[in-house]
Amino acid sequence: MNDMPKDEFEKNGYMLVDWISKYLNEIEKYPPLSQVNPGDILKRIPQTPPTNGEDIENVLADVENILMDGITHWNHPGFMAYFNSTSSGPGILAELLTAALGANGMLWKTSPAFTELEKSMMNWFRQMVGLPENYWGIIYDTASTSSMHAIAAAREQLDLGIREKGMTGRNDLPKLILYCSEHAHNSIDKGALTLGIGLDGIRKISVNDKFEMIPTDLENKIKEDISQGYKPFCIVATVGTTSTTSVDPVDAIADIAEKYNLWLHIDSAYAGVTAMIPEMKWITKGWDRADSLVINPHKWMFTPMDLSVFFTRKPDILKRAFSLSAEYLKTNQDSEVDNLMDYGIQLGRRFRSLKLWFIIRYFGVDGLAERIKNHINLAKEFAGWIEQENDFEIMAPTPFSTVCFRYNPGNKNEDDLNKLNEKLLEKINESGKIFLSHTKLNGKFTIRLTIGSIRHERRHIEEAWKIIKTTINSSSDC
Ligand SMILES: *Cc1c(COP(=O)(O)O)cnc(C)c1O
Repeated sequence: MNDMPKDEFEKNGYMLVDWISKYLNEIEKYPPLSQVNPGDILKRIPQTPPTNGEDIENVLADVENILMDGITHWNHPGFMAYFNSTSSGPGILAELLTAALGANGMLWKTSPAFTELEKSMMNWFRQMVGLPENYWGIIYDTASTSSMHAIAAAREQLDLGIREKGMTGRNDLPKLILYCSEHAHNSIDKGALTLGIGLDGIRKISVNDKFEMIPTDLENKIKEDISQGYKPFCIVATVGTTSTTSVDPVDAIADIAEKYNLWLHIDSAYAGVTAMIPEMKWITKGWDRADSLVINPHKWMFTPMDLSVFFTRKPDILKRAFSLSAEYLKTNQDSEVDNLMDYGIQLGRRFRSLKLWFIIRYFGVDGLAERIKNHINLAKEFAGWIEQENDFEIMAPTPFSTVCFRYNPGNKNEDDLNKLNEKLLEKINESGKIFLSHTKLNGKFTIRLTIGSIRHERRHIEEAWKIIKTTINSSSDC
């Protein structure tokens, strides 16, 4: 009735490590984007569970036979879609240890080292991105969760008794309004709808020709809402938007947040890690005036899914929004320690900070910064190649490592250009060599190429450029 015996665990463990090592080493033999159709993998998995146990060897064989065709390989250097999220060696090893320790950090007492390593890693990370000492940090799973907690704290700060009385069935509550740019990530909308703000309570502020929020437009909207009797309560500024990686003018937005006493949250899920690089410090202008901020190491800091870092200057308000006491969770240390369950919706939590500990120590801050800087340089180089071609157009500035462009042979109207680029992207992805994604900017279909994998080298970017050009040359309808 016991667990897997020690010798069997070791045999399987070494086998799995060998498998992983070979997989990562030979990853380029796979197409980055899975080519299966819906239901293909489902059909291969038995509909009923096995009555008797099997060897792990069989299971691992089925990882190959059943699953691998249906894996989109985020660790593949040809993966240049969305934003990269890649697993480094130290990150993978830390995940293994997380599972082995199986620690649940709901309370300080349920693993003191868990809470204290997380606290230490938040202190390290805070310094790495240049936030002042009064920022308190915590790890959540994703930026979506982090931003939802920011909005919850912003709502709690209003002192409207929502914690006790809720929002429904009350006629003493004003309509709460949240502001973000029309390029903000839809996780902000999800946070707002989860918290009863409603999609109607979100104002999407317009952007300039560089896709950055226009502060005067923001202030006008706030004034208008106040004059309607509504209650503005939160602004979300994005540093590195998802479509184009544009940077909202945080400092000017912070002026407005202060003037109207609104919570300012910064969503820098993708780009925030670049604050480690001296040349990129400009992105942090105004960060010290934000109430909260989110950065995802699971995007561009080589951390396996998932790990999102959330900072706030007002942990007490966050705690007020979420803490409850239950008799069975009371401990003798409650007055001296942070019990992480008090700062969010979840009770149980995984030991994610181990990943930061392994990754930051293995690469060092300089090692991480150099890798990220190299990606930025590669992106600038790629953008340069695009600019040199008459038949291509850059569609947005490239402040980080994401290039927005389209093919434009010069003899087509906007409608046809959209169709042409959509077709081109489809063909590029069908090549099975690279995987790019797209966005629409002012109605124009735009191809996005993003660099940021731990495995990205110059040759991969050259190869991608070659594939894009040969796809055009070999295709009758391009
Ligand atoms: C990726 C991204 C998100 C969502 O991140 P998750 O961790 O997947 O929830 C939110 N905002 C921005 C700006 C992003 O780039």
